[in-house]
Amino acid sequence: MMEENLVEIRNLSVEFKLKRGTIRAVDNVSLDIPKGKVTALVGESGSGKSTLASAILKMVSSPGVISNGSINMNGENILKMKQRALQQYRWSNVSMVFQAAQNSLNPVVKIKEQFIETYLAHKKAPEKEILAKAAQLLEYVRLEPKRVFESYPHELSGGMKQRVMIAFSLLLDPDLVILDEPTTALDVITQDYIFDILLKIHEELAITMLLLSHDISVVAKVADRIGVMYAGKLVEVGDIFEIFTNSKHPYTAGLIKAAPSLLEDLEHTVPIGGSPPDLLNLPSGCAFHPRCQFAKDICKQVTPPMEDVGENHLTACHLHHAVEMGSVN
Ligand code: SF4
Repeated sequence: MMEENLVEIRNLSVEFKLKRGTIRAVDNVSLDIPKGKVTALVGESGSGKSTLASAILKMVSSPGVISNGSINMNGENILKMKQRALQQYRWSNVSMVFQAAQNSLNPVVKIKEQFIETYLAHKKAPEKEILAKAAQLLEYVRLEPKRVFESYPHELSGGMKQRVMIAFSLLLDPDLVILDEPTTALDVITQDYIFDILLKIHEELAITMLLLSHDISVVAKVADRIGVMYAGKLVEVGDIFEIFTNSKHPYTAGLIKAAPSLLEDLEHTVPIGGSPPDLLNLPSGCAFHPRCQFAKDICKQVTPPMEDVGENHLTACHLHHAVEMGSVN
């Protein structure tokens, strides 16, 4: 069955002009976000995931500029939207829970008031209605509305604040919720708990989610589809089962090998050697070549294009036919 896409990103580039030169934090990325599914974007720090998510909100921070491409949501290119339409689009169509978002709660205002203020900044409704909606969402994230409404942020634990932020992100019934490293600052048990909650919300509300994480193993539990980013480029994208069983890119295979809990005992994990490249001084050809055990001369000379390698599966690797990913180490 054909999937319907909620968001279609085409040839998107985001550049930052700095004194030392220009960084292309997102480099010619095309990505579909299917409606009603959870798409995860994974990659090391600096790979471009958060910049791409900010572009979906047309909120790239200065000095960044969207230098090329289009982002269509429900058929409309949001990069062409005027300021007023954009204000409506943010939260009402797309909401985002930023990294360490718990810290963005106002410390001197009760949670109840913060729900009301957030809602009224975008739509009109009686306070009673807003609070009824907020209470329902707090129950979704397994918090007790009465207690949380009357609390100040400092009276809640880190995990509770993160769950409040997830409830906030759903307040205006957005079509898409973007969660940037939603569990990074939390302990492993709370991480697991939050992913259970996200999965339940996704199942019950059929909401489309875009999840950003540096850890491919933590998103595996909830994602339907995974995109892998490296040095600003999308290097592989496919359905979760395909990516985990039939990865065609050495970097993806390396990320999976480095994730102990999914496949093997801790002693069998193999971290990816080397470090992510300096975006101001990218290696020629395939930017992953200095870290790739399969690199050949062509990899140093020519940037690999995205190619179809299976159903709903694309990869950017010259040697995807020849490389046996099971042997990546
Ligand atoms: Fe490795 Fe070459 Fe593939 Fe890049 S193109 S991932 S260097 S084999």
